[in-house]
Amino acid sequence: MAELIKGAPIAAAIEQEVKERVSAGGGAPPRVVAVRSTADPASEAYLRRQGQAAERLGLHYAIDSVAENATESQILAAITALNRDAATTGIIVQLPLPRGVRPEVVQQAVDPAKDVEGVHPANLGTLLGDSPSIVPCTAAAIMACLAASGRKLAGLSAIVVGRSRIVGRPAALLLIQQNATVTVCHRQTADPAAHFRRADVLVLAAGQAGLVQKDMVKPGAIVIDVGVNEVVRDGKRALVGDADPGVAEVAGCFTPTPGGVGPVTVAMLWRNAVTAWELVRRRASRAR
Ligand code: NAP
Repeated sequence: MAELIKGAPIAAAIEQEVKERVSAGGGAPPRVVAVRSTADPASEAYLRRQGQAAERLGLHYAIDSVAENATESQILAAITALNRDAATTGIIVQLPLPRGVRPEVVQQAVDPAKDVEGVHPANLGTLLGDSPSIVPCTAAAIMACLAASGRKLAGLSAIVVGRSRIVGRPAALLLIQQNATVTVCHRQTADPAAHFRRADVLVLAAGQAGLVQKDMVKPGAIVIDVGVNEVVRDGKRALVGDADPGVAEVAGCFTPTPGGVGPVTVAMLWRNAVTAWELVRRRASRAR
């Protein structure tokens, strides 16, 4: 049976690092502002949890409520004001955005140094080099789970399933930096199972329950299951990953769903918030 890579201890270590960096930095702690422009019950609960986590970690957190169903220009104005506000060191654009508002336009308006989600093109662009700046949280979480496996990635064959801008593609670039040999699969990949079977590292970020069955996994492979899918099991709703549970019989180690990549992704937001705070402070001191 495969070894489990649990997210909780990895997330706890990241949170400890966050506290230590905030305390070592001294002065005013990071101040993260979430820009909210819709009243969605799921995102309200998410914002509440963010506020609680920030408080626990010693960060300041605020919600900037732009008018409900705001226009793109109202949201851009709110972001511009936060970009200019010296006290704000991190900005989160809370999704969903109102209908008609283009997420990429809003994300590009955020000062890259304050982009704690790591989704601004300037930050994504740094993934092409060897020193990424602020990395998208899920991609960073995938790499932290891989590090927790204790296996060296150099020379391994890594298959990333999914090529989204903020999960699959950045994860592939980070794996290349670690000297893995990387293949990215997507919906148009011919015979995806043939790729899965030769993977030493299988990163699943497709959002398709049961996509990978145990006969598609190389014995001993590291399986990082990012997918979160709601299914009905025994009449009850449950969250599952992209891998069938039988994969655990073949893999060397794998992340469970829930309780694997998810908590690490959340912790990465706060690590990014500290990185942003450090960048903003460095820039301010250079300008003095
Ligand atoms: P996305 O934007 O919908 O992208 C999904 C990607 O998977 C696309 O590139 C798509 O290919 C590919 N794909 C879908 N079905 C496939 C199949 N049958 N075979 C091969 N490739 C397939 O999703 P995302 O935002 O990247 O998220 C991916 C999954 O991760 C979702 O389940 C999401 O809920 C989950 N997620 C989890 C966390 C976490 O912290 N655990 C964080 C973020 C996301 P095409 O490009 O060809 O369409």
